[in-house]
Amino acid sequence: MDKIIQHLQQSGPILIASHINPDGDAIGSSLAIGLALESLGKHVTFYTESPIPAVYRFLPESDRMVEEINAENQFQTAIILDCGDIYRVGDAASIIEKIPTVINIDHHITNTKFGNYSLIDTTACATAEIVYRLIKKMNVPINNVIAISIYTGIMTDTGSFRFSNTNKDSFAICEEMIALGADPYLVAQYVYGTYSLGRIKLLNRAIDSIEISKNGKLSVMTVTEEMFDETNTKPDDVDGFINYAKGIEDVKIAALILEQHKNNGNKGTSKTYHVSLRSDETVDVGEIATFYGGGGHSTAAGFSIESPLAGIKSKIFNLANKL
Ligand code: AMP
Ligand code: MN
Ligand code: MN
Repeated sequence: MDKIIQHLQQSGPILIASHINPDGDAIGSSLAIGLALESLGKHVTFYTESPIPAVYRFLPESDRMVEEINAENQFQTAIILDCGDIYRVGDAASIIEKIPTVINIDHHITNTKFGNYSLIDTTACATAEIVYRLIKKMNVPINNVIAISIYTGIMTDTGSFRFSNTNKDSFAICEEMIALGADPYLVAQYVYGTYSLGRIKLLNRAIDSIEISKNGKLSVMTVTEEMFDETNTKPDDVDGFINYAKGIEDVKIAALILEQHKNNGNKGTSKTYHVSLRSDETVDVGEIATFYGGGGHSTAAGFSIESPLAGIKSKIFNLANKL
């Protein structure tokens, strides 16, 4: 951590980036570290390949995220947050790799330790927790915008303090963030209380799609493009749905298969699927996701796959035989 701080103190323009389809931790930890560095007089650019989901746009300064960066030569340092590997940032990875210093800050067990410096703590409940410690060590005062960002990162990555990554530090840091200006009701209201009616109808269809393995230990939820069209919703709206499949008694692994259209330029579009996996603490789904080219944590992981839906389902249901 000391070397990273020394480097940042003397660094020129800094790029802050996190993963595609950003969640509350990706956005919150990016804003927190970026704003802290700005208060030290640094020139900071925030990058995200995918647009910020509507529920996170309440975060002050989130409108500063840009969706394109043209050249690596305008930056001296890149800080990559909440990404197990550099390709999680999306298409800009090839540009970011050329930035002279890459700093990798993350809590995924599958992290590849890319970059010139890495700050990885797989026991941290969120990347926002690691960023909190870094900001403290840099002696930067935490203003209310930084506090709201860190609070949102921890609240969302712990599923509102319900998931197995929740620990006493999650509460201690959040207590401090509340004292520094994060309003828990307001954040919860924006993140969980501003859903469109279409999203609730999509949830209805998603719940209806749940299938259970013969032994009752594995559940699969499927969300198709057709469901999005029927309910006028987008993939962002699926955030959190998998917890319904996971919450069924006796279920050890829950999977959510999300159909997505991939744009192949002038060759049109093809179908691709994102598979999210959740487990109770007895099964390591990070390993399963890594096997299929993805990654994550032992109890929450994901991968993308381009093969027919029926084949994906049968691969997933086969996992039940080992449970
Ligand atoms: P998700 O199911 O997409 O919410 O992701 C669960 C966890 O797995 C998150 O911590 C993600 O960062 C990670 N993850 C999801 N998809 C991938 C992937 N394709 N490659 C690496 N990690 C992933
Ligand atoms: Mn994330
Ligand atoms: Mn995270």
